Amino acid sequence: MQFSDFGLENRLMKTVEHLGFTEPTEIQQQAIPAAMQGHDLIASSKTGSGKTLAFIIPALQRLTKNRALSKRDPRVVILTPTRELAKQVFSQLRLFTANTQFKAVLILGGENFNDQVKVLEKDPHFIVATPGRLADHLTQGHFYLNGLELLILDEADRMLDLGFAKELSQINKAADHRKRQTLLFSATLDHAQVNDFAQELLTKPKRIAIGGAFTEHKDINKRFYLADNLEHKEALLQHFLSHENYQQVIIFTATRSDTERLANILIKAELSAVALSGELNQSQRNQIMEGFSKGHQKILVTTDLASRGLDLVNVSLVINFDMPKHTEEFIHRIGRTGRAGSQGDAIAFVGPKDWLSFKNVEGLLEQTIHFDQVDGLKAKFKGLKPKKAKNQKTDTKVTKAVKTEKSKVKKSTRKTFHAAQDVGDMPILKRKKPLTAQQIENSDLDETE
Ligand code: AMP
Repeated sequence: MQFSDFGLENRLMKTVEHLGFTEPTEIQQQAIPAAMQGHDLIASSKTGSGKTLAFIIPALQRLTKNRALSKRDPRVVILTPTRELAKQVFSQLRLFTANTQFKAVLILGGENFNDQVKVLEKDPHFIVATPGRLADHLTQGHFYLNGLELLILDEADRMLDLGFAKELSQINKAADHRKRQTLLFSATLDHAQVNDFAQELLTKPKRIAIGGAFTEHKDINKRFYLADNLEHKEALLQHFLSHENYQQVIIFTATRSDTERLANILIKAELSAVALSGELNQSQRNQIMEGFSKGHQKILVTTDLASRGLDLVNVSLVINFDMPKHTEEFIHRIGRTGRAGSQGDAIAFVGPKDWLSFKNVEGLLEQTIHFDQVDGLKAKFKGLKPKKAKNQKTDTKVTKAVKTEKSKVKKSTRKTFHAAQDVGDMPILKRKKPLTAQQIENSDLDETE
């Protein structure tokens, strides 16, 4: 892939060429087209991966192509955790705004406040800033964000670790209109507070995970079982729920309609279960999650955990009734167990429709996975072979198994995947004690800290 494939506006493309960039980096390949389509993004990225241009380029493209929403308000705000990073971002941005009509300014903590007021009075198009100082100017009415088109959070995990949650919320609320696009970059996506924030700030975000963004939890015992079809999975589920030792269990399904169907089957079998079904609004979902975290039920059936900051310490078993569509989601799901150093169990059912996801998970875990079996519930399905060349015979048994499964799925009330765009609640990582905003604003924190 080349930068020329993105369909960038002429002058922008010329700048890219002038800077000597031909091939986009991995994060750029994924983030630039998604951002140019107008999606909100939650992307993992590391310093040195080319993440800065991954947001600067679509920002400039948008400003060039779209008419400003307001004549005075900034069109793009880029927030970074430290002065040092803000300066780096600003210097890359300047390479692109030089010789254009776009004005960019840098607003940093620890610098002269009144000088910044004058700079803001000139109605810049871009503001690169540390959050504390920018929030101060906002509070004092030195600029408004009603016309903001793009809010970019660089190293969001670090901003939150540094205690900028309040300022980020304030800036977000000041720019709360539906035309706003938000791009969130974080070193890791496996960060509970980042995911909570993503729910507050982003609308149906696309997830972009570049290698190494997910780390596997070592205290989780993973087992995989082949399954022929839906009925077979249900039989396996009933088996495990009556034979496994668990405090609480979370069952993940592919579709939201299935959560209710499965929960009803379990309730009929006199098990204590609840579903997070598709029709619920966020506060109803939070209520269910809170009830579950307090131990009101033993089993939760869900597609995802769109709940805020709950640490479900009593979940000792996770069952992937269906494999997740997004590979990294597997790590998040199983990360709901094995918490606080305790051993957890994660079981996954792999049917014909799950096969591709399963192979991706196998790749992610970098190991060959062997299947376990349950006596009396052995699957006929043995997995799908890689595609053969056209003139070779296909494996009729396998094709048949897929067809049978497909028709079953059609018959059932399954809807399309919703989980794909939902943001799950991720395992909570140990965080450093946050510095105060004052400490941050007045210091140049070392980026490699
Ligand atoms: P960043 O991860 O944004 O800090 O970028 C790290 C360095 O990579 C910066 O010096 C960029 O100028 C450079 N860079 C960004 N994109 C590319 C690219 N597509 N090809 C080569 N270098 C790049």
